[in-house]
Amino acid sequence: MIYAVGNQKGGVGKTTTVVNLGAWFGSHGKRVLCVDIDPQGNTTTGFGIKKRELKYSSYDVLSGKVKITDAIIETPFEGVSVLPATDDLAGAEIELSRAEHRTSRLKMQLLTCKDQYDIILIDCPPALGLLTLNGLTAANELIIPMLAEFYALEGLSQLTNTLKIVRSSFNPSLQIAGILFVMFDQRLNVSRQVEAEVEKYFPGKVFRTKIPRNVRLSEAPSHGKPVFYYDKASKGAEAYEELGYELLKEEPPKKEKKAFFFGRKKDKEKNEK
Ligand code: ATP
Ligand code: MG
Repeated sequence: MIYAVGNQKGGVGKTTTVVNLGAWFGSHGKRVLCVDIDPQGNTTTGFGIKKRELKYSSYDVLSGKVKITDAIIETPFEGVSVLPATDDLAGAEIELSRAEHRTSRLKMQLLTCKDQYDIILIDCPPALGLLTLNGLTAANELIIPMLAEFYALEGLSQLTNTLKIVRSSFNPSLQIAGILFVMFDQRLNVSRQVEAEVEKYFPGKVFRTKIPRNVRLSEAPSHGKPVFYYDKASKGAEAYEELGYELLKEEPPKKEKKAFFFGRKKDKEKNEK
């Protein structure tokens, strides 16, 4: 399964989702490849990879200089390999615009190695340019992380248009895996309103799992670790685990109930579900 994680909006949790979902799948026995096609290279640093020490990156792969297998590196995190990105990738948008097969470069490269992985996650940049088109063309399904704020709704029609273009020209079978609300606060009216609105737009496509705002998720990258290797017991880790099970359509193992619960009753019920 190849998931692109995309949203043209910046800072909505794409990278956090790729790094942590990837790490969870890996620890769950899957062979995972995380593909960084964002010139910011946040997935790369999120896994503790030092960009300066890299021989090759996704730029070399997309520009056809090396085979993808020469650029993929293994990480110390169980089951996870990464195709890293460096800032040279910023130039790829322009270089590719004149190249042949410009939207299917990544797809063609992944075809040569996808049998070695159970799950491939592609971290797209916050733009709808050629790099993102390469991600969407290579993927079977798209995960759309989103903040539950009013402005998110404005981005939806742009995203739907891009999906239409991708489906009609490059990848007719691209499906939406789901919309993932991140930094979600169930108690806010606006969160519930935005969720209801998105559900109208994409019926049945909003993930049941919501990722709460959690400081551990934002701290983990500075240690070069996915949250499961930084603070396994955090709410952020729990949420990405829940998302992993939801994507695999597996029942999570039953957790022991905590003796005390210091939250509100409604939250308690939600927690026990
Ligand atoms: P870009 O569009 O720039 O690539 P992105 O969509 O990949 O951004 P992230 O980098 O994953 O977004 O997240 C943006 C910021 O928010 C980061 O500093 C990240 O650590 C933080 N963050 C993401 N998810 C959460 C969360 N659930 N709780 C708290 N902080 C979060
Ligand atoms: Mg990112």
